[in-house]
Amino acid sequence: MAQEKILIVEDEKDLVKILKYNLEKEGFRTLSANDGESGLALFRKEKPDFLVLDLMLPKLDGLEFCKIVRKESRTPIIMLTAKKEEVDRILGLELGADDYVTKPFSVRELIARIRSILRRVSDSQNIATAVRAGELEIDLGRYEVRLAGKPITLSSKEFEFLKCLIQARGRALTRDDLLKNVWGYDLSVEIDTRTVDQHIARLRSKLGSEAGRLITVKNVGYRLKTD
Ligand code: CA
Repeated sequence: MAQEKILIVEDEKDLVKILKYNLEKEGFRTLSANDGESGLALFRKEKPDFLVLDLMLPKLDGLEFCKIVRKESRTPIIMLTAKKEEVDRILGLELGADDYVTKPFSVRELIARIRSILRRVSDSQNIATAVRAGELEIDLGRYEVRLAGKPITLSSKEFEFLKCLIQARGRALTRDDLLKNVWGYDLSVEIDTRTVDQHIARLRSKLGSEAGRLITVKNVGYRLKTD
């Protein structure tokens, strides 16, 4: 199996050392940068498979970094944040980061999350299903969603939601089903079913004229109307 290349952008040099050591021990290749600008240059040059990105960085902060990367690629991103309050900003800004951890965090936990995201990405690459519903075109294999021919940018969680709903073929999925499928079973993070509702709301707003296809089923959850 190919060794995935992980870029760490973090200005705390000791933390970079610890992360590199542990990730390499787990069989990953690593690259690192200590500020946003050189991190972005390295990202563009090396095209890593995964990005571990600190929020507070010199020169170019993690939020801007993340936005720029999302315009250019779908490389999975985990953000590192020093403060719990920043989590709201990360989620609220819809940056398209795939996950985040709050410092101090356990390296094992971080690695587990990296693996889980990489697994999801490779699973979805193995499915070559394209679905069309009204003005909406969803290519699960290519990770592309278009509305009336125009590409829509989804975070990978939003994409995963959509994928689960498509695979349910019109059946309703409960919030718990969606949580399990999108975040996995082995989570020790504070995610509750309201998170599902928040993601669905964001997804709806991105689906524009086709938002009505995402149907709330009272006391159950959600379904996607594809006919
Ligand atoms: Ca920092």
